[in-house]
This record gives sequence, C-alpha cells and structure tokens, in this order.
Amino acid sequence: MDFAFDARTEELRARLLAFMDEHVLPAERTAHEQRAGLASPWDTPAVVEELKAEARRQGLWNLFLPDEEYGAGLTNLQYAPLAEITGRSPQLAPTALNCAAPDTGNMEVLAQFGNEAQKKQWLEPLLAGEIRSAFAMTEPDVASSDATNITTHIARDGDDYVINGRKWYISGAMNPLCQIFIVMGKTDPDGADLRRQQSMVLVPRDTPGLEVKRAMQVYGYEDHYHGGHAEVVFHDVRVPAGNLIGEEGGGFGIAQARLGPGRIHHCMRLIGMAERAIELMCQRAVSRTAFGKPLAQQGVVQEWIADARVAVEQLRLLVLKTAWLMDTVGNKGAHTEIQAIKIATPRTVVDILDKAVQLYGAGGVSQDFPLAELWAAARTLRLADGPDEVHQRSLARRELKRYL
Ligand SMILES: Cc1cc2nc3c(=O)[nH]c(=O)nc-3n(C[C@H](O)[C@H](O)[C@H](O)COP(=O)(O)OP(=O)(O)OC[C@H]3O[C@@H](n4cnc5c(N)ncnc54)[C@H](O)[C@@H]3O)c2cc1C
Repeated sequence: MDFAFDARTEELRARLLAFMDEHVLPAERTAHEQRAGLASPWDTPAVVEELKAEARRQGLWNLFLPDEEYGAGLTNLQYAPLAEITGRSPQLAPTALNCAAPDTGNMEVLAQFGNEAQKKQWLEPLLAGEIRSAFAMTEPDVASSDATNITTHIARDGDDYVINGRKWYISGAMNPLCQIFIVMGKTDPDGADLRRQQSMVLVPRDTPGLEVKRAMQVYGYEDHYHGGHAEVVFHDVRVPAGNLIGEEGGGFGIAQARLGPGRIHHCMRLIGMAERAIELMCQRAVSRTAFGKPLAQQGVVQEWIADARVAVEQLRLLVLKTAWLMDTVGNKGAHTEIQAIKIATPRTVVDILDKAVQLYGAGGVSQDFPLAELWAAARTLRLADGPDEVHQRSLARRELKRYL
C-alpha cells in the first residue's frame, strides 16, 4: 500500500495550510469580537464574509464536491486530508471554504437529484456562498434515528404539496442567510413499503406557515457559527408540486445517499479537532509547573499525549481507507467502513478532548480556550447523523449474517 497523497492533494494541502495560518486562525479572535457587536447573534460577522471572498479568490472553494461541473472534482481520498485541516478551526474554516454542513449535503442532493429549475434557483446561490440551507428530518415527538417513524405529512393538493409537522435540531436554520429547507416527510403514510412512504421537498424560508420557533442548545452552547439548531414548525405550508426532489417515495433513498460523504467529512474534521487538542495539550504541558516540575514530566500526562497520538494515527488510516473504498467500490461497498468510522471517530476524539480539558484545569471548561466547545461539538456527533448504537446494530448484523 502507498499511503502518500497525490500531487494535487499535496499542492492543495500546502495552500490550505497557508490559508489557515495567514487568514483563518488569526480571524478567530476577530470573529469573536465582531460577534459581540452584532445586532442579532445569528448574523454573520463581517470577517467570515472576508474569509469566504479570500478563499474563493485562492481557489479553495467547494472542494467537497466531487462533481467537476459544480465543485473541485476531488475524490474522497483527495478531499479527506483537506477536511481534516479545516477541522482545526471548525467554526470558521468549513464556512470560509463553502464546505460546511449541512450545506454540503444539501448541495450534493441538489446536484445529484435536483431538476434543472431547482439547480438554477437553489444550487447556484449555494455554490456561490450567497445563501445557506437546512435539512429538516428529525422530529421531537418520535425516535427519529429510525426515519420510518417520521410523521411530518406532505399531502398532495392539486398542483401543490401541503406540509404539516414539527422538526427540531435543524442545523443552520437560525441564520437569516438560510433561505431554503430540504424537508423530509411522508407523502404516503399508509404505504406498505415503509421505506417508500417518505419524500423530500424544497421549502423556501419565507413560505407562509414556516415558523422558526426557537434555538435549541447543545450543552448550553447555541452554535452561532453554524447558524444554530432550530425547532421549526410547519403549519399548512404550501409549496408547488415542482418543489419535490426526485420522485414521490424517494426520500428515504436520498437521505441514505446524503449521509455517506457527510460522515466522512465529519470524521476528517474531527481528526483535525483532535490534532488541535494534542497541540494545545503539548503547549500547556510544557508551560505549566505543578508540584515542582512541568506538567509535561508527569507520567500520566505523557500517557495521555502518547495515547492520543496513537489513536489519531489509527483513526486517520481507517478514515482514509474508507475514503479510498468509497472512490473505488462506491458508498454501498464501503458501508461497513463508513459505519466503523462513524462509531470510532467521535467517541475517540471526545476522549482525547476530555484529556485535554483535564490538562487545562478550570481553563479547560472555560470560554478562554476552545476545548470545551470542541468537546461539546464532538460529543454531539455521537448522535447527529445517527446515534452510535444504530450504526453498531447494523454493522453487527452484517457481520453476523455470514454465520446465519
Ligand atoms: C447538534 C445536532 C445537530 C443536528 N442537526 C440535525 C439537522 O440538521 N437535521 C436533522 O434532521 N437532524 C439533526 N439532528 C438530529 C439527529 O440526527 C438525531 O438526534 C439523531 O438522528 C437521533 O434521533 P433522536 O434524537 O430522535 O434519537 P432517538 O431516535 O430517540 O434515539 C435515542 C437513543 O436511542 C438509542 N437507540 C436508537 N435506536 C437504537 C437501536 N437500533 N439500537 C440500540 N439503541 C438505539 C440510542 O442510544 C439513541 O441515542 C441534530 C442533532 C444534534 C445533536
């Protein structure tokens, strides 16, 4: 096996690392200060728009999209190490490069399943970074990790669809730039095939009856940089039938297709977060002294740092293998590995961040260092895009099948 990155990946990595050092990391403090002065906490600090313009100028834009017509045309294996670099500053870098969830998954859905009119109206401004988007599937009233439970109703009425339902944790929806929602609901709630009951429709933010009700918290954080996670209610929301994505009954299939690349992007960014945690741990360990010697000389601290390094190297290899499989045998063929990285990465990175928090003492849980917020973000990825247990169940079933 050859683990080296190809020439294009190396070239993009070098440019992205320079962009991070020169523009993104110095902007973290500026963004924080500007945010404090915004009229609404959900508005975007000016420095974020400046970063977007600079990234676009440098050709570091839409790197996630494998489709050359719309994006950079990179393979998963080429994009994965770039996503890792953006994970070092998860609040700013993915947005700066127009590579942030949930827009990435939504753009993929529109590129893959949208018709020409939908692409023109929504994909083009998303690709240009002019608007943001949300993906509305999860509902507070049912166990939504099982998408067949979804109760939001999408009823055909003449030339329209009428939508009724309640969703929550809809990422990005608090941001006023979020202009379009991809909503998953049931067009055929009584259909015999449980996986053909669902459809996806496009709902513009200004449609009457769409109510962005409140911002949900994540361990007390509101995730302003991600546009929050909203509770959204649909009261008799009427959209033209042409807003259906793909075909009626195709929603479940589209949701499955949407999650493969999204998971690998999340995992690579998590590895970037873990790298930042290791860096912060080492800086702290050599600069603080307790009981007569630097923290770096405590055996337990050395053990944390060594274990973190080993874990990150293991994870990265598994994620890159998964990316390579997705490129060579497709998302279906890489099913087991996609689930494996989704199970292994957030939990390992949470553990690394937890050690880093411990090493920073009270500073670790404070707002003065990024560790507490990184921990909360990593912890949510044991739930978002499907809880660990759902992936464990399905992976184990496939493993056991061979013995049955
Ligand atoms: C920060 C954040 C952002 C999110 N963003 C979005 C978004 O943009 N759009 C969106 O639609 N959703 C979003 N979600 C929701 C997320 O996808 C769901 O929370 C997730 O799919 C789980 O659904 P649920 O919360 O209804 O949990 P439930 O389905 O009620 O599951 C609860 C628990 O039950 C257990 N469980 C469930 N099934 C099994 C099983 N088969 N075997 C064993 N145990 C099981 C697991 O421990 C699981 O955690 C987000 C969530 C968070 C926290």
